[in-house]
Amino acid sequence: MKEAKSPKKPLITYYLIAMIILMLLNALVFPSLMASRVKEVGYDEFLTMVENKQVAQVAMDSDQLLFTTHEQEKGVSYYQAGLWPDPDLTQKLVESGASFGAVIPTQDSPLLSFIMSWVFPILFFVFIGQLLSKLMQKKLGGNAMQFGKSHAKIYVESQTGKSFADVAGQDEAKEALHEIVDFLHNPDKYKDIGASLPKGALLVGPPGTGKTLLAKAVAGEAKVPFFSISGSEFVEMFVGMGAAKVRDLFKQAQEKAPCIVFIDEIDTIGKKRDSGTGIGGNDEREQTLNQLLTEMDGFDGAKGVVILAATNRPDSLDKALLRPGRFDRRIPVELPDLQGRIAILKVHARNVKVASGVDFDTIGRATSGASGAELANIINEAALRAVRQGRSEVSQNDLEESVEVVIAGYQRKGMVINEKEKRIIASHEIGHALVAARLKDAAPVHKITIIPRTSGALGYTMQIEEDERFLQSREDLLGQLCILTGGRAAEEVVFGTMTSGASNDIEKATSIARAMITRFGMSDTFGMVALETVNNPYLSSDASLVCSQEMAAKVDQEVQQVISQAHQQAKAILSKDRALLDRLSAYLLEKETISGETFMEILAAQD
Ligand code: ADP
Ligand code: MG
Ligand code: ZN
Repeated sequence: MKEAKSPKKPLITYYLIAMIILMLLNALVFPSLMASRVKEVGYDEFLTMVENKQVAQVAMDSDQLLFTTHEQEKGVSYYQAGLWPDPDLTQKLVESGASFGAVIPTQDSPLLSFIMSWVFPILFFVFIGQLLSKLMQKKLGGNAMQFGKSHAKIYVESQTGKSFADVAGQDEAKEALHEIVDFLHNPDKYKDIGASLPKGALLVGPPGTGKTLLAKAVAGEAKVPFFSISGSEFVEMFVGMGAAKVRDLFKQAQEKAPCIVFIDEIDTIGKKRDSGTGIGGNDEREQTLNQLLTEMDGFDGAKGVVILAATNRPDSLDKALLRPGRFDRRIPVELPDLQGRIAILKVHARNVKVASGVDFDTIGRATSGASGAELANIINEAALRAVRQGRSEVSQNDLEESVEVVIAGYQRKGMVINEKEKRIIASHEIGHALVAARLKDAAPVHKITIIPRTSGALGYTMQIEEDERFLQSREDLLGQLCILTGGRAAEEVVFGTMTSGASNDIEKATSIARAMITRFGMSDTFGMVALETVNNPYLSSDASLVCSQEMAAKVDQEVQQVISQAHQQAKAILSKDRALLDRLSAYLLEKETISGETFMEILAAQD
């Protein structure tokens, strides 16, 4: 984002000023200094000059003689000679007709010598001091001298370079924001009917879904000043500075109204105020938050200052921030659905050369659950891969590979795995795939591979749902458990052993089984009782138990039981299809990667 700010003088200008001053001094002052040069002569020479009646005036310093002559040499203002014990000197001088002076009349103006010896050095040091403090301020991020000044950057229309066209999907969010933009353009339309717009709108959603991007797009569309600041910028070293910044920001905003103020990551300052815990612990943050609340109440919404904020932790925000009159409008920015994902892929593909006939549909379906940021990353990875391989266009293959890179990391071609382990890995993956194929309604297998990845995965089986699912039935979830346990089941059926390779499967299975029991009410034992609540819908692991200890112990037992049942089922399926399991494993071992179609063909040929 480009920002409009007053151009800063670069360091070079200071050097230039210093240079010019030095040059002026050189040209104007130093020559006259040179003119008042002193010439040293020996005492004998002095005596000769006295005898020749050349000396005009003489003065005696503590240890030297200073004198002028009637006909001065060019460039010499006075002469200087060492003292000599000479009792006759006075006599000689009187005879020669020289006059005695207290001070030698020099051609130096007293003003100039005053300037040179006092004013100039002082000015010089003041100048150096200024220069240094400027440099220090730059190093300290401009904080050293101007305590509490807000550093909100003012973004002006069109300079963010983003518009609503850059944001794919998110139609509801765009509509809500569009209304705000419209209000700022034609406030009368709203005033006439008596409608007033909310003062603040809060964009909430998981990370990477385009909240910041949406705010930038609003700035691009609104054609009004746009103040953007991140919550963390309010967090300061000294108590009270954050509050001062808030005050300053709102003062600026009110001067520039109509305008938009955007506070990104507002949870850094908007966290719940805790009641008197800790010793002064969060004073600074609380003061900042209080100031924000005060400012939001204080200004007149009709003037046209709209405050946008974004967060992915709405649960942790202080309730006071969310009450009417403050951020009373919530704009959800959710993970994109299939259509949204395809649209986002296409928006980002505008900036890269894509081969004709690339099918974004498949990629969209393969990336269920991916955020906008991840999808943007997939396009970029694909472009990088095309460059690495010396091609000028991004192909379907690049896209599919980069989906896997984003999911599982890069291929680790150099990793050497011994034959026995490779066989176990192949059987494990075929175990997953075969169970999936044998279960009714499971998502079709898209790809099976035993090429290790940088994420640590030694192989994986990709399934892609045919169309987007918004509900999951109990049968679906039990099926998923069965597929997840299929890997370990194959190891047991074929090799009679267990390996650590199933750890990731176990983790996933446990969390699914847990959710079924504690949140989805899918267990016969507990029925429809909430045993866990989700604190933050955007961080799936962030749930807390809301039941007694005994209940919790029973839940653990039930989880164990559900998974073990699925495991038994998977083992049964694989034992029955043992021949097929072995053949497919051998085939995968040889090819390292097989596509869903090949897998299904082999399966169909067998049946
Ligand atoms: P957030 O602030 O929600 O964490 P960002 O707005 O920073 O996410 O999004 C990061 C990047 O992801 C954006 O710069 C953009 O490239 C991409 N992105 C996210 N959502 C979208 C979207 N809906 N349309 C297009 N690009 C998106
Ligand atoms: Mg953001
Ligand atoms: Zn597995």
